[in-house]
Amino acid sequence: MTIFLAAAMNGYVDEGHEAVRELLTTLGEDPRRQGLVDTPRRVVEAWKELTSCSQETPENVVGNGVFELETTDAQAGLVSLREIPFACVSVDTLMPFHGNCHVAYKIAQKKILGLSKVARIVRSASKRIQSQQQLTDMVAEAILKVTGSKEVAVFVTATHIYYDRPLASVKTSRLTGKFTTSKQEIQDLQLVLQLDDASESDLQIEGCRHSLQSDPLVERVRHSLSSLFGRMRCTLPNQTSVYEYSRQMYWATVGSRDAFAPSVQTMQEPDSSDEENDRSSRTSVVSCVVEFVSTCEHHLLPFHGQVFIGCCTRDPVAARCCLSRSIRPGIASIASRLQVQEQLTNQIADHAMSALNTDSLLVICEAVHLCMIARGPGTHHTVTRTMCKRGEISKELRDNGIAALRRTSTH
Ligand SMILES: [Zn+2]
Repeated sequence: MTIFLAAAMNGYVDEGHEAVRELLTTLGEDPRRQGLVDTPRRVVEAWKELTSCSQETPENVVGNGVFELETTDAQAGLVSLREIPFACVSVDTLMPFHGNCHVAYKIAQKKILGLSKVARIVRSASKRIQSQQQLTDMVAEAILKVTGSKEVAVFVTATHIYYDRPLASVKTSRLTGKFTTSKQEIQDLQLVLQLDDASESDLQIEGCRHSLQSDPLVERVRHSLSSLFGRMRCTLPNQTSVYEYSRQMYWATVGSRDAFAPSVQTMQEPDSSDEENDRSSRTSVVSCVVEFVSTCEHHLLPFHGQVFIGCCTRDPVAARCCLSRSIRPGIASIASRLQVQEQLTNQIADHAMSALNTDSLLVICEAVHLCMIARGPGTHHTVTRTMCKRGEISKELRDNGIAALRRTSTH
């Protein structure tokens, strides 16, 4: 597939930029807005990176990275690598998914593969548009081919990101040779890879919440995207994926369109009649943690995680009610805009201040960013935390936030 790389080399980058500006306008954004000025260039760069290995073969990747063991035992044992991180673009939706790959193979004919080459094979298989099962198979087949082994096991666990339905955690696996038949071999695999169930494969994805079949905006987004991919001479696997991606972009930006603005239900002032005074002057901490998916306005790629909102209040019952009735939908709406995490955190704090009757508010947001994950190893386990305070923060509130995030941490 000659995606954006060929386009870039042939001087089509500017046309790609123009198409991204057109897409932003279609989504109701102003491409001249300060945060979006450089977005077209970044989007093209990001897609280049996400599909940069489309042309590679296992032989290209491995080069001369196969070595011979100096041993008399031809069956010299088992090699495994755990948690090789990757990000890939889904063939069904063009949305990124990311996760970890575990690889094991039995040494045959004393041939071993340089360890960094195993990671390179995973990287090469993931930097292209394909399904998680195709990725899994591609890694297994590459290792079979270059090592000459008959026993290879590949397990992939990934998070698939959607804007219109919950994130999905999907497991896929590919086992060959005696790994599929011999109980002893399977037990060895479980030992080296620390897997609970080495044969587990789970392809259940929850159905989507919304149908947008007749929405004219989705149709316009699809038109813009087709124009983008077309101008960049991009060969896509199928047209359905463009439609699915258009639906995702629709939901990614739905919060910036007025009709979906959240209504703010402000808490009542606490009753300060004389007999209530003693009780209402005591404050307590009320908090919640909300999961979200948003879109980085610089790369048009998702970031996802959770946000802690805590406040000190004299009316904990009303505050709890407000958190679930007003703050949660507010966060969903704020996340459904083109964002940067720092801004998202501030907007959530502003929204919470307007709804909660408090003078002490703490918002902590933690997320993983696909634009970081898509850009090579080293940033895969980076979790970005941003914090926003309004008023004086008590030790109790601070401790509450730290404990809540420790329980629900993104990684
Ligand atoms: Zn980004």
